[in-house]
Amino acid sequence: MTDRYCVFGHPIGHSKSPSIHAAFAEQTGEAIEYTAIEAPLDDFCGAWQRFVAAGGRGANVTVPFKEDAFRCCDVLSTRARRAGAVNTLVLSGNGKSSDFKVHGDTTDGVGLVRDLVRHGVALEGARILVLGAGGAVRGVLEPLLAQAPQSLQVANRTAAKAEALAHDFSDLGAIIGSGFEDVQGPFDLVINGTSASLSGELPPLPDTLFSPSAGAYDMMYGAEPTVFLRWAAARGAGTMDGLGMLVEQAAESFFQWRGKRSDTAPVLERLRRSL
Ligand code: NDP
Repeated sequence: MTDRYCVFGHPIGHSKSPSIHAAFAEQTGEAIEYTAIEAPLDDFCGAWQRFVAAGGRGANVTVPFKEDAFRCCDVLSTRARRAGAVNTLVLSGNGKSSDFKVHGDTTDGVGLVRDLVRHGVALEGARILVLGAGGAVRGVLEPLLAQAPQSLQVANRTAAKAEALAHDFSDLGAIIGSGFEDVQGPFDLVINGTSASLSGELPPLPDTLFSPSAGAYDMMYGAEPTVFLRWAAARGAGTMDGLGMLVEQAAESFFQWRGKRSDTAPVLERLRRSL
């Protein structure tokens, strides 16, 4: 029987994950089925268990279920434990006997770092600013700190959340948390992990934000550059959106399920053209 995978979300109709994983499967010769499933808001674990009972071997998890998925796991990766969220579920065992285990991981941070490296961004020794303190930011701090930046500041509309995040990750490297009013710069890399771009809003940021060769990354993506990327480009920064992060995090999930690395470049190119 073909191994089954899916992405859970609510809503999920817009998801690009089925086409990304279909491309990976074709590329690597893996016979898998990958669908999008809208789980009920009040019973994520039940939806996952039903999927497993029907032959599911693993899943991606997106908004708003990443924290629910965390609670359905028997085994968590260190980074998922740190993030308090899971975007990749992997079943070990055959799923039919009582010996199977549900492993949870978060691949968003690896996806972001791989995409930044693909863009040629040097992270070691860089002064990095991350905007936002929600689930996405929590998931990327450990992989970013592992690149040994010179400094990492997390700034958020609700300053207390950024301060709490900085406290939680302070054993991994130099990290500070603040409100937007305490952002000065210059920074070599500014990553927008807020959802402000969704509503076309721009966090209040100073004109002194960017160093001369700085990069600006928005985790959001779309056919047009976000307001943050337009603002950054007008101040001389090189701009990158989050489509590559989406493809790279998917590739890492695929690797965990199938043990095969995909060539992400053509998949990203095709996806970009379809926006
Ligand atoms: P959350 O809802 O967990 O967090 C939202 C964050 O945005 C909070 O820090 C919130 O601040 C801040 N925020 C919301 N509105 C505004 C605003 N108008 N001005 C300033 N700050 C604002 O969302 P996620 O962390 O899950 O997602 C954040 C973004 O990352 C989304 O755009 C999402 O699409 C994107 N993303 C992209 C991925 C990819 O693969 N490319 C993967 C995951 C996420 P406060 O705490 O004050 O409310």
